[in-house]
Amino acid sequence: MAPRKLAAGNWKMNGDLAALAEIDALVAAHPTPGCDVLICPPAVLIHPMKARIGRAAIAVGGQDCHARTSGAHTGDIAAAQLRDAGATHVILGHSERRADHGETDAAVAAKAAAAHAAGLVAIICVGETEAQRDAGRTLTVIAAQLDGSIPEGATASNTVIAYEPVWAIGTGRTPTGDQIAEVHALMRERLTGKVADAAGVRLLYGGSVKPGNAAEIFAIPHVDGALVGGASLKAVDFGPIIAAL
Ligand code: PEP
Repeated sequence: MAPRKLAAGNWKMNGDLAALAEIDALVAAHPTPGCDVLICPPAVLIHPMKARIGRAAIAVGGQDCHARTSGAHTGDIAAAQLRDAGATHVILGHSERRADHGETDAAVAAKAAAAHAAGLVAIICVGETEAQRDAGRTLTVIAAQLDGSIPEGATASNTVIAYEPVWAIGTGRTPTGDQIAEVHALMRERLTGKVADAAGVRLLYGGSVKPGNAAEIFAIPHVDGALVGGASLKAVDFGPIIAAL
């Protein structure tokens, strides 16, 4: 059975307490969404956002966690702390973290294992740079990232994969439908044998998803939702994306 679709918003380092008014607008406009909805704000907003959401059908997630459970890691957050604050998911291995913090596939796998141990769903991000695509290496790069970033024990219940071409993030550029389809088919195939119930793992596309292109992207085979950056910040943009799923 095809997995239930997921609209996940990544607020990155944007938003403050006043921005939580967007949650009210989203709930008012989409009281019963036809897909799962998740918003991953900066860590300091997880608890107040969860409180603001109340009983509405929106989950809250983190944008990173540490691989260890506690200790001398100034500035870091343990998966269990995210969970304690109200998170059910955590984005891991986003290309901005891979670039800004030198996160390797092995580091992402260790973080994902920690997330699973804490009862969080790990949203593991993969994606090629423009130079890698131009060199014809996209599928090789994605396969290697998948192989290295998914930990033992990953299942369709505790793991989501997000394909985010680095060159499409925040640029307004998107791959063609054929290019997305090719990568998502490869990801589904690659997960088989590696992840229990591979057919049920949700495969998100991320990179300049907007209200105007969402329906077209969601119609592509093996696209089970989206990881949305800029267009998740405002209900007026994220709402139509949710509605397109
Ligand atoms: C992202 O950073 O996860 C992302 C997809 O950003 P945007 O939608 O702004 O391209």
